[in-house]
Amino acid sequence: MSQLLSQLVAELQAGTLKVVDLTQPLGPNTPVIGLPPIFASSPGVTIEQISRYDAPGPGWYWNTLQLGEHTGTHFDAPVHWVTGKDLPDNRCDTIPARRFVGPACVIDVSADAAADADFLLTPERILAWEAEHGRIPTGAWVLLRTDWSKRTDPAAFLNVGADGPHSPGFAKAASEFLASERDILGVGVETVGTDAGQAGTFDPPFPNHTIMHGAGKFGLASLCNLDQLPATGAVVIAAPLKIVDGSGSPLRVLAIAPA
Ligand code: MN
Repeated sequence: MSQLLSQLVAELQAGTLKVVDLTQPLGPNTPVIGLPPIFASSPGVTIEQISRYDAPGPGWYWNTLQLGEHTGTHFDAPVHWVTGKDLPDNRCDTIPARRFVGPACVIDVSADAAADADFLLTPERILAWEAEHGRIPTGAWVLLRTDWSKRTDPAAFLNVGADGPHSPGFAKAASEFLASERDILGVGVETVGTDAGQAGTFDPPFPNHTIMHGAGKFGLASLCNLDQLPATGAVVIAAPLKIVDGSGSPLRVLAIAPA
């Protein structure tokens, strides 16, 4: 075994490295993004029992799942957006697995999001983060820590008002900066989607999806436990199900970090 992998195993066993689960539970109570009624929407999660040590299956328990690809903690592939539809290796079954693993850069805007539900990350804020923590490396997952995942009440999590949902996200210029000036894998957020709640009213609508997926980058939505990660120094593994022609998938997102 390589020395580095031997050390990884030893440090995991010794507890000097920890595995942080960045994944929300997936079940019937999982909140699903709402869209204006002119658009088709995604169903909630349905889990139907096939058998549970009973007549339909006396020795075994299993269920049937029904859910949208973009449900709960999930992955957005470039083909999810029209801007990424013609890119090579742009879907769940064709993205090289190497691109699911990368260093994490955690940008903590939790105080800003607490003060303003519509807070947007700007390029200036990213540059300030880099001045403190170093340049965002090639192949990084950029994770926006808002502490939004601590809103355990689905209504507070979706935070829908008369004028639509209110939740933090990325200014268009920040998405452009990350997609063009830094060669990242993608962005991850604690909110229901990788665009801000009000992003349907932006120009273009949903600019983070538009820009990131147009640049072949990925998205991770509904993450949690970002407060357990250092600003730099963790490695994130985010591998979607290998759905044929899949636009995204629920997934288990794991980070390996110093304990
Ligand atoms: Mn999605």
